[in-house]
Amino acid sequence: MIGVSAAHALMRDGHEVTVFDREGIAAGASQGNAGAFAFSDIIPLATPGILRQAPKWLFDPLGPLAIRPGYALQILPWLIRFARASMPDRYAAARDAQAALMRFSSDALNHLLVAIRGTALIRREGQLQLYDTPGQLRASQPGWDERAAAGIRFETLTSHAAIAEIQPGISERFTNAVFTPDWINVTDPRAWVEFIAEDMMRHGVAYRREAVARLAPQGAGVRLETGAGAENFDRVVLAAGAQSGALLAPLGLRLPLETERGYNTTLPAGAFDLRTHVSFSSHGFVVSRIGDGVRVGGAVELGGLRLAPNMKRADALLAKAKSFLPGLDTTGGKRWMGFRPSMPDSLPVIGAAPGHPNLILAFGHGHLGLTQSAGTAEIVADLVAGRGTAIDLAPYRAGRFIRGRA
Ligand SMILES: Cc1cc2nc3c(=O)[nH]c(=O)nc-3n(C[C@H](O)[C@H](O)[C@H](O)COP(=O)(O)OP(=O)(O)OC[C@H]3O[C@@H](n4cnc5c(N)ncnc54)[C@H](O)[C@@H]3O)c2cc1C
Repeated sequence: MIGVSAAHALMRDGHEVTVFDREGIAAGASQGNAGAFAFSDIIPLATPGILRQAPKWLFDPLGPLAIRPGYALQILPWLIRFARASMPDRYAAARDAQAALMRFSSDALNHLLVAIRGTALIRREGQLQLYDTPGQLRASQPGWDERAAAGIRFETLTSHAAIAEIQPGISERFTNAVFTPDWINVTDPRAWVEFIAEDMMRHGVAYRREAVARLAPQGAGVRLETGAGAENFDRVVLAAGAQSGALLAPLGLRLPLETERGYNTTLPAGAFDLRTHVSFSSHGFVVSRIGDGVRVGGAVELGGLRLAPNMKRADALLAKAKSFLPGLDTTGGKRWMGFRPSMPDSLPVIGAAPGHPNLILAFGHGHLGLTQSAGTAEIVADLVAGRGTAIDLAPYRAGRFIRGRA
């Protein structure tokens, strides 16, 4: 998503561009996500109260947050940074940076939609965020106040009837919700990436299905090595999602890029008459319309890139969804696990690699890679062109996590 969007923006700027992907277009996390342009999600995961809440979630092995036992030690340094990011002053700075990137990305999406003539792939149906109890809704109020201060529109609903008017078929136990009308979804995230990719290739971008083995900045460019040989490029944009760290480590750049693994099940057409994107916030999953079907998924599993998926997580989310949406037909689903590329402060890395001005980094978008893809792509194009950027890039620089580079 990030790489293809960046390539499209660079192509629009008149550059000669080659995309390398070891698996194919939309092979990674971008193919199976929930399909939301979640522009109202400006609150970083590392909120000031998270350290009190998280241990409760960890008690349920199939709950919204889990750490795989085999990965507990490896993830520790990232968790310490996550804890630091939840301190009030750092949290507030990250929230403001997230809000700035959201506004920029929303405008950039409009530019992209015009460029690719892509409005048929977009649904403007808003999002319904449900709370289990009035107390939960009240507890979420500070976050909504912060969104209001950032200019985000929403409506608070406090009766089942008001919820059912927007989305019929939700269990009557839900009487509290917030509706964000400006939320946008793609009809299908894989189809969205493929559509942009086809457009960029029609306009001359070269696409090569090859794994990049090594990046070596040298002189005025970057040497890129694949199994087929080595080539020099004026600039390289590294947008390999959760796998980006492997190409940076040989350059001595060790960033706290981890993966928050997410699970879902995509149900076929007719599974449920879904009219908006539905989020069950305290249960850590969402239900969204994908094509004519329905996708149920979310949750966070900290388990690195190598451990096998635990598809019981997808099943647990589906069972919960069935109890919240009693009419949901759960048969015929396809399960999936994807690697969210995540930094401890929920902000992506966008900018030149420290010490290597011709290597541009664009990864680490966590839960928001689709949402921030068009914005990231425009920033990458500005950096490559040497133009000033519309937003201050300091919060997204790689050096924020490298001692001596801040
Ligand atoms: C369950 C779930 C739901 C989500 N829902 C949403 C949502 O609704 N909205 C949203 O905004 N975000 C959502 N996300 C997050 C979003 O999917 C990611 O942030 C986004 O897909 C990251 O995009 P990317 O291009 O950085 O990485 P990826 O999509 O993972 O792409 C990385 C690419 O790099 C390639 N690659 C890796 N290493 C190499 C190499 N050495 N050489 C060549 N190619 C290489 C891979 O093959 C891959 O194609 C969700 C994620 C999950 C898991």
